[in-house]
Amino acid sequence: METHETDILIAGSGPAGLVAALGFAHAGFKIVLAGPTAPATDRRTTALMNPALAALDRVGVLDGLRGKAAPLKEMRIVDATRRLIRSPTVTFRASEIGEDQFGLNMPNAVLTPALAEAVAAHPAIDWRKTMVSDWALGADRATATLADGSAVSAMLAVAADGRLSPAREAAGIRASARTYPQAALVLNFGHRREHAFASTEFHTETGPFTQVPLPGGHRSSLVWVVRPETAEVLSALDDVALSARVEEQMQSMLGRVTVEPGRQVYPLSAASPHRFAAKRVALVGEAAHVFPPIGAQGLNLGIRDIEDLIDIALKNRTDPGSAQALAAYDFRRRPDILARSGAVNLLNMSLLSDFLPAQMARGAGLALLGGFSPLRGFFMREGLRPGSGFAALAGGLREKVRRQDAVTDHIEEPRHGHH
Ligand SMILES: Cc1cc2nc3c(=O)[nH]c(=O)nc-3n(C[C@H](O)[C@H](O)[C@H](O)COP(=O)(O)OP(=O)(O)OC[C@H]3O[C@@H](n4cnc5c(N)ncnc54)[C@H](O)[C@@H]3O)c2cc1C
Repeated sequence: METHETDILIAGSGPAGLVAALGFAHAGFKIVLAGPTAPATDRRTTALMNPALAALDRVGVLDGLRGKAAPLKEMRIVDATRRLIRSPTVTFRASEIGEDQFGLNMPNAVLTPALAEAVAAHPAIDWRKTMVSDWALGADRATATLADGSAVSAMLAVAADGRLSPAREAAGIRASARTYPQAALVLNFGHRREHAFASTEFHTETGPFTQVPLPGGHRSSLVWVVRPETAEVLSALDDVALSARVEEQMQSMLGRVTVEPGRQVYPLSAASPHRFAAKRVALVGEAAHVFPPIGAQGLNLGIRDIEDLIDIALKNRTDPGSAQALAAYDFRRRPDILARSGAVNLLNMSLLSDFLPAQMARGAGLALLGGFSPLRGFFMREGLRPGSGFAALAGGLREKVRRQDAVTDHIEEPRHGHH
């Protein structure tokens, strides 16, 4: 069979693959996207922070999502461990950093179809709703054989094919993987008191219990990280019993809880590839990083992968999959991915750990975030977009120095003045 030639081949049509297809198409590349339509059974919600929303806006999908998503105006971390050293509750408000909201929380059942619809409608994207069954990675082209027997070759292959990433494996990139003794129970629930667009993450000895607002004031989503056997027990409870457990865990913060039908359990793991690109393949999304769902990091990081990859592809327009372009991508993504994965894994392990210094470090870290305002602003900005916290801190410092200079000038003036 004849091989179809394109600029960019994207393997995987999860959220990362769909966003990548739209982004590359908007940047003017010809795309083949290979991967089946996502099943409509995902009950999770995704909190996307403002920079990720801006990326969705640039590819024209944000307007359709706004009405079906809840703004995140406040984020709280509550230490609900029964440990000796506990952290004070930390509250972050978007208004403190001059933002109206940190981001939007939306059901995956809204996000994924909206992305898929935009991909299907884009004339520069040829979406083959089938799996890649084989890779041939040469010096000049990456060629994929699809399950329907057709073949596609491109200058650059984007691996958006998830945590096990067959494309990553074909490129010979090894990944260190770790499983945690944890699973996430995911469900949505109604509550009597209004959430006021605040999300609360309760840290417990088995992992975080995270409530995130949904539209309408009286509904929220829940990601409850517990031991795998506990997740099974909880998900087998009837609605009344499970509602009571959720309410108890939240210390009745939102009043009476009523869980909605549909519960899912996701086993947790972590994976870090040793590099982020090789042999004409660049990794994005969970192919590039897997870690537990703490602090809504995963897809936000995945969207930053995609933005950086597109930027580098534009700077290497004649051959976006060249060794030079891939080296630039690896270099650009490494600090952000390692910092995020490291911080999330560390936080998760410090929750699980009975090791006192780990808990003290967590306590001290959270206390620091809670108390000292310039640092809080720094962490909130870093949480939204890495680098911007540093930029604001540097800006603040510059301003301080400038003001100090002004003071010095003022003091020194009389000496050189009219006396
Ligand atoms: C409980 C939970 C809550 C989360 N909450 C948040 C949140 O609030 N905010 C946030 O930013 N992130 C969150 N995340 C993380 C986020 O869900 C992931 O980052 C995101 O789903 C990863 O998307 P992906 O497209 O990289 O991978 P996937 O969704 O796994 O997609 C990979 C796709 O590749 C396809 N594929 C595999 N092999 C092939 C092949 N050979 N050929 C073609 N296609 C192939 C698969 O069919 C699949 O469709 C959460 C995760 C969990 C588990």
